[in-house]
Amino acid sequence: MVRIIPADPTLILSYSLLFLSSFVTSQSSWSKLSDSGLKKLPSPGDTLNPDVGKLLKPLLIPRVVNTEGSRKALQHFTNFFADLKWSLNYDNFSQPTVLSSDPVPFANFWATLDPPWKAKENREGEIGRLVLVAHYDSKIEPAGFIGATDSAAPCAMIMHIAKAIDKAMRRKWEKMEKDGDEFEMADEQGLMVLLLDGEEAFKFWTHEDSVYGARHLAEKWDTTMNAAQSTFKTQLSSINLFVLLDLLGAPMPRVPSYFKTTHWAYQHMADLEIRLRALGLLESGKDHALFLPDRDKTVFMEGLMIEDDHIPFLRRGVDILHLIASPFPHVWHTMDDDAQHLDKQVVNDWAVIVSAFVAEWYGLEPFLADNGDGMSTISKRGNKTEL
Ligand SMILES: [Zn+2]
Repeated sequence: MVRIIPADPTLILSYSLLFLSSFVTSQSSWSKLSDSGLKKLPSPGDTLNPDVGKLLKPLLIPRVVNTEGSRKALQHFTNFFADLKWSLNYDNFSQPTVLSSDPVPFANFWATLDPPWKAKENREGEIGRLVLVAHYDSKIEPAGFIGATDSAAPCAMIMHIAKAIDKAMRRKWEKMEKDGDEFEMADEQGLMVLLLDGEEAFKFWTHEDSVYGARHLAEKWDTTMNAAQSTFKTQLSSINLFVLLDLLGAPMPRVPSYFKTTHWAYQHMADLEIRLRALGLLESGKDHALFLPDRDKTVFMEGLMIEDDHIPFLRRGVDILHLIASPFPHVWHTMDDDAQHLDKQVVNDWAVIVSAFVAEWYGLEPFLADNGDGMSTISKRGNKTEL
């Protein structure tokens, strides 16, 4: 990642058109977590520790497209989501790059957890989803570049989030099936984790030399029609919100609210951060500067945009929540973007804040376990480390 570009004026128009529909469909049914619900959120424990963490450590290797490191990362995702019994999908494709006319193989990966009554009947056109996204490839230069914030840590955070809500989602769906309310069942959404390949430029960032995986998949999903009469005509249109995590894990992050159309979602997340912090449930502490400082923002600059994996989706009308630090981490695109320069507390806190957002999105409060489903809860974590 990344570069700043002037905004496309046609996008500004589509923002205002899209605003109304997001407001009606997603905001009206929002279920806030209570304080006791927040305390039950599973803690990442040491799974995101750069030195020993079983989710993060395997990703802290060079992951250049079509190399052994990239394949190891993909295997890591495959093993993890197969264990969770999610549905796994791969988008393998080859295309020439700026380096040569020889096609290079790329591999996007996604895993889905869907309401069983929709998954069973393979009703793809009926499943709207929240989509959590990061890129897993690393930059080809400098040689040996790790990309800990870019985006090994975001990938591992998303893995934690998936695990943190998996059992609660399943309990919710069991209850829904038992209750048998057809309207609620028809409305119920799935969750997708999307890990993209080929985000980085091989040479210099241009439209042609960047976001290879995202460009390929956005076009494919935009042109893949679901069955006739489906609620969602294409796979792309079934994305309710595309939450992109990038350049996270460095100290003192500041993530602005970039889009007026999805500011309502940003506000929910920012609110959660404020509440989690006040309750002493974040490792970076009660007095740390807010990671998400823009809750009360009212004026949006439409002139500048950060280029990243969301662009091919944004241009096709998908709602985006872009969680990218601005300014970028000091270590950005240098050899220092490695394990040592990650801030462990910040990494864990991001995973918890986004978990809380997902738990609210799906209304999981009644289904969160007291014991963190085998992970410790963030309130227990607090007792252990802060005394
Ligand atoms: Zn990058």
